[in-house]
Amino acid sequence: MSAASALDYLASHRARIVDELIDYVRVPSISADPAHRADMGRAVEFLVAQLRRIGLEHVEVLPTAGHPAVYADWLGIPGAPTILVYGHYDVQPAAPLDAWSSPPFDPVIRDGKLVARGGSDNKGPHFIPLKVAEAYLATTRKLPINVKFLIEGEEEIGSRNLEPLVSANREKLAADFVLAADGARWRIDLPAVNFASRGIVALEATLTTADRDVHSGRYGGTIANALHLLARLVATLHDAGGRIAIAGFYDDVRAPDPAERAAMAELPFDEAAYLAGIGATTAVGEAGYSTLERQWLRPTLDLNGMWGGYTGPGSKTAIPAQAHAKISCRLVADQKPARVVELIRQHLELHCPAGGRIELRWGGHGTPAYVMPSGHPGLTVAERVLHELYGRAPKRVRIGTTLPVSDMFKRVLGLDTMLFSFSTADEGFHGPDEFFRLQSFEDGLRAWTRYWEILGGLSPGSFDRFRCHAA
Ligand SMILES: [Zn+2]
Repeated sequence: MSAASALDYLASHRARIVDELIDYVRVPSISADPAHRADMGRAVEFLVAQLRRIGLEHVEVLPTAGHPAVYADWLGIPGAPTILVYGHYDVQPAAPLDAWSSPPFDPVIRDGKLVARGGSDNKGPHFIPLKVAEAYLATTRKLPINVKFLIEGEEEIGSRNLEPLVSANREKLAADFVLAADGARWRIDLPAVNFASRGIVALEATLTTADRDVHSGRYGGTIANALHLLARLVATLHDAGGRIAIAGFYDDVRAPDPAERAAMAELPFDEAAYLAGIGATTAVGEAGYSTLERQWLRPTLDLNGMWGGYTGPGSKTAIPAQAHAKISCRLVADQKPARVVELIRQHLELHCPAGGRIELRWGGHGTPAYVMPSGHPGLTVAERVLHELYGRAPKRVRIGTTLPVSDMFKRVLGLDTMLFSFSTADEGFHGPDEFFRLQSFEDGLRAWTRYWEILGGLSPGSFDRFRCHAA
């Protein structure tokens, strides 16, 4: 029972482990702010020292064009499953500082919560597998499985150098699947596993009617007004029932599984609280779907900004020659970002009112939706562990947001990504008073310990049918 001794170790070293986490979150490793470049280095040093002290091997700082990533492994059981643990040591900026009830990088424990920037996103959650590795190595001199750690430093700025790094280190990072210590649990009172996230694509449209803005006394009533035309055009993007009215938009959308819809209807989702939480009064969206289904199962098209003409103080009697809109879509399986952009282009060109011409700007980026294959051991082991830990079967839930690393690991390494984070969606990440529940830390240590133990008992062929070839 190697897990039992590891759990005993974690229990008897609890205070010291929490102190170490406090030291870690004390480092203001803000990737977005060049003034914190030295702090990014301090976080890397902290990690490297931890990984070495724990007894992991091949501890290495992997440089990128931006902030480096930290790698370490333990590969002592040939033939046993190998996982790649993902997390990120960078944090969001803490401003505005006066919105915090205690300084963001001066961690305090209040009501069982560690309050600090980075506590929940993502230092607390990825410190868990580090300490589980320590517990196993300290008590049994080995891990139940082979483990590789990849802790990056640019998640909060879009992981822009992660894909080149992963591409250049395919062999080093080869594994059976990715077990991510990132992501967040849906809610604290319901054991659940995340198995799917939506994709995203974003673009900008410009509608032009003339080569300059003109006097409304001389031209008003005689030529097209770009703002009026754009307003009419964007109004064609949805029908009266809230369905996206772009021809072909739903062609690649995988039909929702009736069994999943039935299970979702049973989830304790409080729509009134969901709306009241942001001061909204009415749920609006695609007809025929519940609010949760709209958030998890269905694609969206949103205007994120619209501008043009004069927006300064007072009035200005000019007719704008250009109007702009920022548009983004949340995608579901099996929509492809480039195809969606093409369909939007066709729609906007076809429906652009007389007197205007439309131009689209798209940077070529987009992320498709991600779905963990049903029956994947990464998913079923997570369910078994949570069932044991909480005494009831966890629900399967989706995430309405986008996790680009899942798609990237699939494309570049051919690996599925199981999210196994112990942060919770209400822990204020990216905002003031971010916190991490110490009970979640405790649960996470137990869960990851047991997860590795169960995984170590699987036969080597368990992942064969899920292995796919990287692009
Ligand atoms: Zn974040």
